[in-house]
Amino acid sequence: MALSRRKMLKRAAAAGGAVLSPQVVTGQAPAQLTGTQTGRRFKAFVRHGTGASVEELKLRAIQPREVLVRTQASAVCYTIVGGALATTTVQQASIPNHSGMGVVEAIGPLVKRVQVGDRVVVPGTPQCGVCYQCLHGRADWCQFLDTAPAHPMAEMADGTQVFEGASLGGLSEIMVVPEEYCCPVFTDLPAEQLTLLGDTVGTGLAAGRDLVQIEPGWNVVVQGAGPVGMGAIQTARLANAGQVIVIEPIRARREIAMKVGGTIALDPNAEGNGLIAKIHNLCKGITDRRFAGGRIFGERFLAVPDGADFVINAVGSDWFPPKVEAGPDPTAILPLQQCFDFTRAGGHIVMLGVAWRGNVSFNAAQFSNRGRTFYSGQQGGLNMLRDIPRYVKLIEKGVIDMKSMITRTYPIERTREAVQDVADRTVLGAVITFS
Ligand SMILES: [Zn+2]
Ligand SMILES: [Zn+2]
Repeated sequence: MALSRRKMLKRAAAAGGAVLSPQVVTGQAPAQLTGTQTGRRFKAFVRHGTGASVEELKLRAIQPREVLVRTQASAVCYTIVGGALATTTVQQASIPNHSGMGVVEAIGPLVKRVQVGDRVVVPGTPQCGVCYQCLHGRADWCQFLDTAPAHPMAEMADGTQVFEGASLGGLSEIMVVPEEYCCPVFTDLPAEQLTLLGDTVGTGLAAGRDLVQIEPGWNVVVQGAGPVGMGAIQTARLANAGQVIVIEPIRARREIAMKVGGTIALDPNAEGNGLIAKIHNLCKGITDRRFAGGRIFGERFLAVPDGADFVINAVGSDWFPPKVEAGPDPTAILPLQQCFDFTRAGGHIVMLGVAWRGNVSFNAAQFSNRGRTFYSGQQGGLNMLRDIPRYVKLIEKGVIDMKSMITRTYPIERTREAVQDVADRTVLGAVITFS
């Protein structure tokens, strides 16, 4: 049914919504653009009370700078499984997760970045482009993260207000997000592949590019081959690393790691205390000549580099004991510590894995003078507006293998099973897909 613009605005005002789509202006309004989305019913996985369940929700009015995205896919991140599966009482109902992708169905009147009909990746970190951090090359720490308004986006049948985890949720048929969280992508790639750019695999891909770059020929170590580590393995391959040494306890993951760019995959349980020596051995190169030639005549000279050039740590703390091969340390402190020892003097260490508990300590002289440089950030330092479109092109070209990153897809009704599988680490990439 065609509606005049005046009628549309009147209807929106009457419903208290501020939603105005550009398509309304051009008179191409499809059925969903009734002037407001307020009151729209949709399904979402909600953590509320002492548990979590799929609920039918009623959408509240969206704000002038917000975007309504009809979700097409959202990959469950391991960092949310502890909260999503817990049975403790929560004061605030919320939709877990922190990434997704979908199609823009409505925008507030002040939104400029996207239009109705755009496909967008909604990553875990926003990018406003005008804050101190964005202008200092650290879009991953965009200050909009701290100022994003936390207001309920929907309510349950009993009137309980529902918020979106990390301002965006994801395990929901609808996401309502500030435009700063939207990265438009102009591509026909499958949604389940694109959504991985918003969090796990995108984080790993950023590790070799954003804060510091892998140089061609370098020896790279990737500690942990979950979805984040898999992105890191691929970024090392893209950078033409000399070796990509993967350390991962789960056999199935080691196999995928070798398929997407690993040159050798080690089991930390099998290597035990010999792991550091093994890495040094793999990185030593020639032993009887200096690196750029010349004989060694017994003088005091370190013939071989003392470790890898570039080390990426993508091991996170366990929320629950895995149902597959467990790593050597559930706190993830040991792998973090080992990364330091894997790295040569002057080498680089990028931290991606989230360690929740404990402290790390280093030998003071080693830490102060041995010249390893640490980089840490949100999503590996991802500059989403610049990098996500770049990664889209590389997936289209077949250079980045996203297909192998997805081991199972689930409908929204089976979200709990997906979260459990991720908690058990029996899947690599678990993606909720929406019709
Ligand atoms: Zn995540
Ligand atoms: Zn910013």
